[in-house]
Amino acid sequence: MDIALYEAGVSHLEGKANILKLSSNENPLGAPEPAREAFLRAARDLHRYPSTDHAALRAAIGEVWSLDPRRIICGVGSDEIITFLCQAYAGPGEEVIHTEHGFSMYRISALAVGATPVEVPERERTTDVDAILSACTDRTRLVFLANPNNPTGTMIGEGELRRLAEGLPPQAILVLDGAYAEYVEGYDAGAALIAGRDNVVMTRTFSKIYGLGGLRVGWGYGPQAIIDVLNRIRGPFNLSTAALLAAEAAVRDRAWVARCRSENARWRDWLARTLAEMGVPSDVSTANFILARFADPPEANACDEHLRSEGIIVRRVAGYKLPHCLRITVGDEASCRRVAHAIGQFK
Ligand code: PMP
Repeated sequence: MDIALYEAGVSHLEGKANILKLSSNENPLGAPEPAREAFLRAARDLHRYPSTDHAALRAAIGEVWSLDPRRIICGVGSDEIITFLCQAYAGPGEEVIHTEHGFSMYRISALAVGATPVEVPERERTTDVDAILSACTDRTRLVFLANPNNPTGTMIGEGELRRLAEGLPPQAILVLDGAYAEYVEGYDAGAALIAGRDNVVMTRTFSKIYGLGGLRVGWGYGPQAIIDVLNRIRGPFNLSTAALLAAEAAVRDRAWVARCRSENARWRDWLARTLAEMGVPSDVSTANFILARFADPPEANACDEHLRSEGIIVRRVAGYKLPHCLRITVGDEASCRRVAHAIGQFK
């Protein structure tokens, strides 16, 4: 069984020649070589328990991003940090805000702790700070915002983020999800905003530009008081040694990150332009995927069927209330050319 196909829910395609998976925003270039080597090194000591405090990984992240390592928490993907935040700060009778086309885990994690998810509309598939502020009540505990956003690829600037943080009610925490932050050159994912405030947290991941989705490593950064609370919920051995060592090697490989960012930008812009010329527009994406818009949901579904018949798997986003769209991960040059060619045949 091909693991990637199993994960994508298309294992029935097993055996079909030349499947191209562009549905999970994975890095087409894979993990950097030092991370693979670190992973293999971990195999020598499989009988040992892993580090409980993740000190080496937190130190590496702190060095690279100029952050205080004491205020970093590592988790099993950023999914686990999102879960911890909901467990610690939301419960029955309390509200968790997320945007209309926001990442599905926010709603799922809020429901899991008995809190009420509150969906806020976007404007032209972009975060609307005024709409979020006017949805806040005295029961709002968490406001989740991915910037860049998944599945739209859009993002808002530092001034808007500051206005949001400053306008929240006192009991609410803003969670800035920076899963795709590394794709935006120079973006600090909210670090400067966190520096002077006690109500903002960021979450980050090794699953995207670092190419380690299979190992499940993410992290959070925020005010010491919040990180201390999250650490009390965290199990002592939540991350494996292999995951810790590979992530540490990956975050230190800045040349790899720079290369992946520029390759991604080049082929993302090519793909968006090429599809637009075929009559399939998309918003300007700042991440490693584009959200292709079709005339209506039947056309999007028909295109998806055609792509599948060609062995190409993209993501339907009806669950994100975008049934007329398909989210396509930016692959390498050959993958981008192949998916564009198949969409051209469909059109
Ligand atoms: N946030 C966003 C916006 C995402 O798109 C994803 C992955 N799809 C995640 C968080 C979770 O990433 P992981 O748990 O792999 O770190």
